Amino acid sequence: MSLNCPFCEAEALTQVTYTHAVRAGRRMVEVPDCQQMVCGNCGETVVPLTLYEHNHERIESALASTPAAVSRGLLKRLREAYNLSQRDASRLFGAGEAAFAKWESGQSEMSDPAALLVQCALQVPGVMDHLAALAGMRLHTPSGGRHEADALGRVQRRSAPVRAEAEVLAK
Ligand SMILES: [Zn+2]
Repeated sequence: MSLNCPFCEAEALTQVTYTHAVRAGRRMVEVPDCQQMVCGNCGETVVPLTLYEHNHERIESALASTPAAVSRGLLKRLREAYNLSQRDASRLFGAGEAAFAKWESGQSEMSDPAALLVQCALQVPGVMDHLAALAGMRLHTPSGGRHEADALGRVQRRSAPVRAEAEVLAK
């Protein structure tokens, strides 16, 4: 593989493993085994799409297994899996009306208790139903369960409880 540096055009790019630090809510999470290309000539770093996807997967999986850390993408997918508006999702999690909009846009950061509750909702079957009942809401998944199962399955494929949840959704 001969890749030229897009900055100095030297044929001096080598792939290196590094630890990526990502902000999730109010904390930083370290994600080992991320990959990038570093130019031996000018020192610039480049992340080609394939490595970007690898890193993204590593980051999502690290966040999924870190208590009190939930990525913005994960929040959105949880909400969409249950067809909830940002407003309804905020209500279901007992947060202020605009909370989900702010968390998803990065305008404000989730508290640790809120993140822990979202982690439980993602990983423990029945939590979403229970929260909905407490909030006096009814969860509905009108467009067939397949899509919802895929959405959560992709995110949490290593987690058995979520597979169970996905099966419940698929019914
Ligand atoms: Zn270079």
